Amino acid sequence: CGIVGYAGENSAASVIIESLKKLEYRGYDSAGISILGSGINTYKSVGKIVNLEATIPDEISGNIGIGHTRWATHGRPSTINAHPHTSGNPCKISVVHNGIIENYMALKEQLTAEGYEFKSETDTEVIAHLLHKHIYGKPDGREAKCELLTGLREALKEIEGSYALAAICADEQGKLVLARKDSPLVIGLGKGENFAASDVTAFLNYTRDVIFVNDFETAVLTPTNVEIFDREGKAREKKIEKIEWDF
Ligand code: GLU
Repeated sequence: CGIVGYAGENSAASVIIESLKKLEYRGYDSAGISILGSGINTYKSVGKIVNLEATIPDEISGNIGIGHTRWATHGRPSTINAHPHTSGNPCKISVVHNGIIENYMALKEQLTAEGYEFKSETDTEVIAHLLHKHIYGKPDGREAKCELLTGLREALKEIEGSYALAAICADEQGKLVLARKDSPLVIGLGKGENFAASDVTAFLNYTRDVIFVNDFETAVLTPTNVEIFDREGKAREKKIEKIEWDF
């Protein structure tokens, strides 16, 4: 299981697929990606990454994206339960997540009562809808009331459990956001491109300059910038480390 994020100048889909293949050794039952373009395009598949690759159209463009290999904890392995999980009508939010959301049942009931329709059996899907709710107010909301990062911080206050997660928003082009608690997450710094993953091996072919994200930190990744914030939303100076070993 693993998450991957890419913001850069190259095709996000091909970088993410390559990175997901590097995470195959961690074990998984399904995989998926979302690419930010005019809207959010999501592709999922059970089994090997090559199966996922086969579902992605060659002409797909977009320089920002997120990807996932899933090791099912809540909900059987299936295409519907594979990540990313999306929210909104039209689709505004997409999320990948490693970990377990412990209070997902209560959140699911509450969000369902508020009109959110659950497509999967996963605990993760509550994150997508909760994030959407904080930004757009309701399932068919079209106007963002706050920024993606603000919405994420608010959503995380309601979530109990462990997570390394990455999210994109249809109305915030050029970036992805990240958060971590009790599940590994690392950022890779490139030239005109930045990476995120649960494991450095995902992007060692591209860069060896990394920042380890700590519990309760959130981050914003763009092709040229990485910002990391503490629990209160204050920007943090983080050490850049060099990975010297070979994998
Ligand atoms: N709990 C989530 C699920 O079952 C994430 C599993 C994972 O970390 O791959 O979908």
